[in-house]
Amino acid sequence: MHEHDRLFIDGDWTAPAGTGAIEVVSPHTEEVIGRVPEGTAADVDAAVAAARRAFDRGPWPRMTPAERAEVLGRLAALYADRQQEMADLITAEMGSPILFSVFGQAAMSQLVLQYYVDLAARFAWEEERAGMLGPVTVAREPVGVVAAIYPWNAPQFTLMLKLAPALIAGCTVVAKPSPEAPLDAYLLAEWIREAGVPDGVVNIVPAGREVGAHLVAHPDVDKVAFTGSTAAGRKIAAVCGELLRPVTLELGGKSAAIILEDADLDATMEGLKTASLMNNGEACAAQTRILAPRSRYDEVAEALAAMVGGLAVGDPADYSTEIGPLVARRQRERVEGYIRLGQEEGAKIITGGLERPRDRGWYVAPTVFADVRNDMRIAQEEIFGPVLALIPYEDEDDAVRIANDSSYGLGGSVWTADVDHGVEVARRIRTGSCGVNLYVLDPNTPFGGFKDSGLGRELGPEGLTAYLEHKSIPRPA
Ligand code: NAD
Repeated sequence: MHEHDRLFIDGDWTAPAGTGAIEVVSPHTEEVIGRVPEGTAADVDAAVAAARRAFDRGPWPRMTPAERAEVLGRLAALYADRQQEMADLITAEMGSPILFSVFGQAAMSQLVLQYYVDLAARFAWEEERAGMLGPVTVAREPVGVVAAIYPWNAPQFTLMLKLAPALIAGCTVVAKPSPEAPLDAYLLAEWIREAGVPDGVVNIVPAGREVGAHLVAHPDVDKVAFTGSTAAGRKIAAVCGELLRPVTLELGGKSAAIILEDADLDATMEGLKTASLMNNGEACAAQTRILAPRSRYDEVAEALAAMVGGLAVGDPADYSTEIGPLVARRQRERVEGYIRLGQEEGAKIITGGLERPRDRGWYVAPTVFADVRNDMRIAQEEIFGPVLALIPYEDEDDAVRIANDSSYGLGGSVWTADVDHGVEVARRIRTGSCGVNLYVLDPNTPFGGFKDSGLGRELGPEGLTAYLEHKSIPRPA
C-alpha cells in the first residue's frame, strides 16, 4: 500500500489544505493500492507561490545552464539506478504491461531527462548577431512559472516531456498529475529532493479537473504545458488565449498505419504490436487505423487477426504479458461502448469483441474490426484501448487521402520493402510524426500534432524553445 498524506510543495512534504483523498485502484485486482491527498485550489495557490518565489528570487533561473545540468545530471543518475522501481509503480497504478513500463515509460523518461542535461552544453543559449546599427545580443531566457498538466496513460513520460526542458531552461514548475496515476510523481519527488534541486523549483499537486483549471488560469503562472484530450485542450487553449499565456498542447490522435503493396506482412505485424497496441492501446500516437491495399486485404485481415488474437492478455506485472487491463472501469466502459458502436455501424469483428478475457480487472479483448469505412465513428474517434480498424484502399493516393481524412494529425507509419519510397509517402501525411517500418519517439526529434492533435512540439531542441523567451539587446557599433 502506497500511503501519502502530504503534498510536495516548496521542496518539502507539506500538509494539504483540504481533507479529501484520492484512492488509487489497481486495474488488475480492482483493490486500493495507494492513497494521496486530493489537492485543492488552496494547495495550487501555495504551490504556485512557492514556484513564483523560486523563480523571482531563488537561485535556479540565475544559475548557468551548466550548473542546472549538473543538478539535473544527478537526478538522471538516480533515475537510471532506480528506474525498475518506477516501472513497477507505473504498472501497479495504471496497468501498463511491465515490459512497456520498463522501456517505454521509465527508461524513456530517464532518457529524455538525460537528453536535456546533455543538450544544455551545446544549445545556443545566447548569440551575437550583426544588427543594422551595431551588434545585437539575442538571449534566451526562461519563460517563468510553468503549469504542467498531464494524463494517466504515460504519467512519468508526459511529465518528463515538460519537466526536463522546463527545468534546464531555468523555469520553475507546478505539476498536476491525474487522479488515476499520481503515485509515480511521489517517487520522482523523492529523487528530486535527493538530487538537490532547490526548494520550490518543482511542486506537485495531484487533483482533478476543476483544480487543474484553477492552475491554468492562475495569475502567477507564465506558461501552460498540457497533455490530454482534445476536448480539455480546447478549454485550456481558450483560457490561455484570453490571458495571452503561452501554451503547449499535446492532444489526441487517430493515426494510420499504411501497409503498402510490397510490405513484408510478418515484419509489419511484429511492428504493429508496438506502433498500434503499445501501452494497451492507451497511447495518443497509437496507429489504430490500419490501411491495407484492396489487392492484399484478405491476407492482411488474416495476419492482423492472428497477431492481435494471439497477444498474451493478463497480469501487467508478468513479463510475458503484452496487453494488460485498462486504467479504470470507466475506460473499459468507453472502449466496450466503441466495440458495440462498431458493430452497429456495420463493421465486422474478426478477432476479440465484447467477451471479457478475465472476470477481475478492467480487461477487454484486443479487437480488430474489418470492413471499416473511414467515415465511421470507430475510424474517426479516439478509442484509447486495444481496438483496431482495418480499412481498405484502392491505390497509394487513396491511402494518403484516407490517412489524412482525420481531424487529428499526431502520428502514423508506412510499411514497405522500399524505405526510400516509404519516406516519400510519409512526407505526404499531415501529422507531426510518421515512421517508416517502425514507430518511435526520439528524444532528439520534435513530437506533437497537426490539426486537433495539438499546438507546439515537445522533445528535441524545439521542446526546449517552448520554455524560453527570446530577448534582443541591440547597441551602437
Ligand atoms: P483528460 O484531458 O481528461 O485529462 C488529462 C489531464 O488534464 C488530467 O490531469 C486532468 O485532470 C486534467 N484536466 C482535464 N480537464 C482539464 C481542464 N479543463 N483544465 C485543467 N486540467 C484539466 O485526458 P485523459 O482521459 O486523462 O487522458 C487521455 C487523453 O490524453 C487522450 O485523449 C490521449 O490522446 C491524450 N494524450 C495525448 C498525448 C500526446 O502527447 N498527444 C499523450 C498522452 C495522452
